[in-house]
Amino acid sequence: MSRIALISHPACRRHDMGAEHPECAARLDVIQDRILASGLDLSLTQISATRAQRDDYLRAHSEQLVSLVEQRIPKEGYADLDGDTHLCPHTMASVERAVGAGLTAVDAILGGTIDSGFCAVRPPGHHASQDHSAGFCIFNNLAIAVRYAQSKGIERIAVLDIDVHHGDGTQSIFAQDANVLLCSLYQNPLYPNPEPVERANLIQSPLPPASDGNALRQVVQEQWLPSLTQFAPQMIFVSAGFDGHIEDDMAALKFVEQDYAWFSQCIGQFARTHQVKGIVSFLEGGYHLSALARGVEHYLRGQLAAFDG
Ligand SMILES: [Zn+2]
Repeated sequence: MSRIALISHPACRRHDMGAEHPECAARLDVIQDRILASGLDLSLTQISATRAQRDDYLRAHSEQLVSLVEQRIPKEGYADLDGDTHLCPHTMASVERAVGAGLTAVDAILGGTIDSGFCAVRPPGHHASQDHSAGFCIFNNLAIAVRYAQSKGIERIAVLDIDVHHGDGTQSIFAQDANVLLCSLYQNPLYPNPEPVERANLIQSPLPPASDGNALRQVVQEQWLPSLTQFAPQMIFVSAGFDGHIEDDMAALKFVEQDYAWFSQCIGQFARTHQVKGIVSFLEGGYHLSALARGVEHYLRGQLAAFDG
């Protein structure tokens, strides 16, 4: 059995924000197809995501937000949470597995059965703050899983965000938590256009449009790895967005497949050599379907090279 797991659930397909919306069920289909067509399924352990409970959402979100989402779920058609984040009658079926996947990954890592879990889930999460859903995100899957790991006794956690958009929700949720180191790269300017923040345990790495994989390597090697070494995380969580790919027209970075493989292998090797218990990665953005599928494949190959190599 591989120590690298792909964690998902068919219910993650059911959330639907309309025919023209880029955050669509086909994103998960192309990832699964690519994993099968490439033969990668033979190298991975596939695990079904558990079903998260209401109390799990409350690990990172206010009662007000959870109630608001529950009350807005429409009986038919769509309901708005913000201008580009919508609910459909089946949204909660996806949300409970998107959140559940992170819990499953944490349990499998702490139980010693895997080193790394990639949560192929939707809706994504990193724009969701304690009180607000935004930017295609309902609840913050990663933040809930971090809180869950903390409840299991994990003290120091690093969160790495490589989505092309700044993970503003994640940053705000952990603003007061000195035991969470957040390293985040993102295109700037671009939604959500964050203000620079100076604080311990936060490394913001804004990149100008047209930055490529060399910029990624420079950020990780010069800014992130020294801080990770000093911080000595016991677990690492990654917001793995693939919308920084050159073919993805949601933004204007120029990452390619090999950059995702490099990043993934680099972080995996760090984990192996620094007594990190494991890595939990969450699918965030990535809207060019073919590029998304290739990006995820290479990311998983990077994890395999680091842990199984
Ligand atoms: Zn994004």
